[in-house]
Amino acid sequence: MLLEMIDSSERIVALTGAGISTASGIPDFRSAGGIWEDENPMEVATLSVFNRDPERFWAFYRARLDVADSYEPNAGHLFLAHLSQAGKLSAVVTQNIDGLHQAAGVGDGLVHEVHGSVRELVCLDCQARYPRECLDELTVGGLPRCSCGTIVKPAVVLFEEMLPEVEVERGLSAIADCDLLIVIGSSMVVYPVAGFPAQRPQGARMAIINNEQTSWGPEADVWLGGDIASQCAALSRGLGFAD
Ligand code: ZN
Repeated sequence: MLLEMIDSSERIVALTGAGISTASGIPDFRSAGGIWEDENPMEVATLSVFNRDPERFWAFYRARLDVADSYEPNAGHLFLAHLSQAGKLSAVVTQNIDGLHQAAGVGDGLVHEVHGSVRELVCLDCQARYPRECLDELTVGGLPRCSCGTIVKPAVVLFEEMLPEVEVERGLSAIADCDLLIVIGSSMVVYPVAGFPAQRPQGARMAIINNEQTSWGPEADVWLGGDIASQCAALSRGLGFAD
């Protein structure tokens, strides 16, 4: 059923969350344990800790950025890259900060990262941005600094920080113009993104690919449960794309 919907759609928007990256081994940011067990992200990855105690913030975040390079896209990201190459995908609106949609081959301009990205560093004073690879080179006296002297921050949205307005607006206008919205790997509980499907046009269809049902379930035309990467791999095969 979803295959037919994809076939007959031309402006597909994917709305993705942590679940699409699970098969790549990316730990759930909010779950306990794993490699961040010594610190609670909700206590450290905050704007106030960054401002008040940048040493502690960067001790936590540097490890996180270092491992970001070791993750690879999975069948979920590749499925969307196939749709993009087929000219059917108008946008990916993502809550993820891992950059794996672009790594899979979705064009940069089509990916709207509403929670920011680990791929860049940003200076909150002069707004200069640097690729993550510059981290070591910018580090002086233990802390990474912009050429203006201010300590830079990963370009991710920290707790207590506003979402990037431009990304949110672009994401919402893509959704408002879609003919099929596919929600993948998000339980749709974190606002404002959880409210985004309401912006889809009347007549646009909606599919959910997630291991558990979401609050949007009753309005969806189709729900594929179970393992997300397997479901996406099957869709890619069904559409004749080879991984
Ligand atoms: Zn600066």
